[in-house]
Amino acid sequence: MRKPLIAGNWKLHNTVEESCQLAQALVTDLNDVTETEIVIAPVFTSLSDVGKICAGTTVQLAAQNCHCMDDGAYTGEVSVPLLANVGCSHIIVGHSERRQYFGETDHFINVKARAIIKHGLTAIICVGETLEQRESGELFEVIATQVRGALEEISPEQMSQVVLAYEPVWAIGTGKTASSEEAEEVHAYIRGLLHGSYGAEIAAQCRILYGGSVKPGNISELMAEDDIDGALVGGASLKADDFAAIVRYKKTLKMAAT
Ligand code: PEP
Repeated sequence: MRKPLIAGNWKLHNTVEESCQLAQALVTDLNDVTETEIVIAPVFTSLSDVGKICAGTTVQLAAQNCHCMDDGAYTGEVSVPLLANVGCSHIIVGHSERRQYFGETDHFINVKARAIIKHGLTAIICVGETLEQRESGELFEVIATQVRGALEEISPEQMSQVVLAYEPVWAIGTGKTASSEEAEEVHAYIRGLLHGSYGAEIAAQCRILYGGSVKPGNISELMAEDDIDGALVGGASLKADDFAAIVRYKKTLKMAAT
């Protein structure tokens, strides 16, 4: 049984004070939630203070990015050990905004994911196609390349420290959510890739989140799909009430197609 995971990506928003207020509201609001894992990813400058607020609560801390080296002459970068030191248990890598604006490749994402795993943290690895790729019939090829590239040299034992997030680029911050059927089709495909590389047990255990304009109004339908195990939420994670409502999504059974 995969435990649902709802993660909030705060992107480049919020001062330290605003981050702390939001985090405080969430830890208070969600202190009774045990059936779903909750993760929030503030900006780097807020991590230390938000980490103190999250310590010992049901809300876990994530960074939005990291560098692959532990220390050294890498101006402007932040390492996994330093992120662990301020309380991070998870790190997001491969977000489409990093691929698009910072030229991150599957290889670089893989190197970072391995650094995260080496230090005992969980990597939330994002994959997803652009609208152009989907429309030109490259969807599955793009997803396979990104998933295989990101998981290169990650052993079966290490897969318990990996969460995948399928985020169609055309659905991020656009208000356009993939339909639950469209999302499920790709999630099932990704699980098939995991089955091929790691076998049935690991494929069945690995959580695959959906991301792209998730809101309180569409989370239940998405979560009713067999292979959708949670969500990576951008915009709606900046409002405590919306994020809390997403975490407390109503469990529904998928209606049988007629
Ligand atoms: C994201 O940033 O990962 C994301 C899915 O954003 P949004 O929910 O705003 O589409």
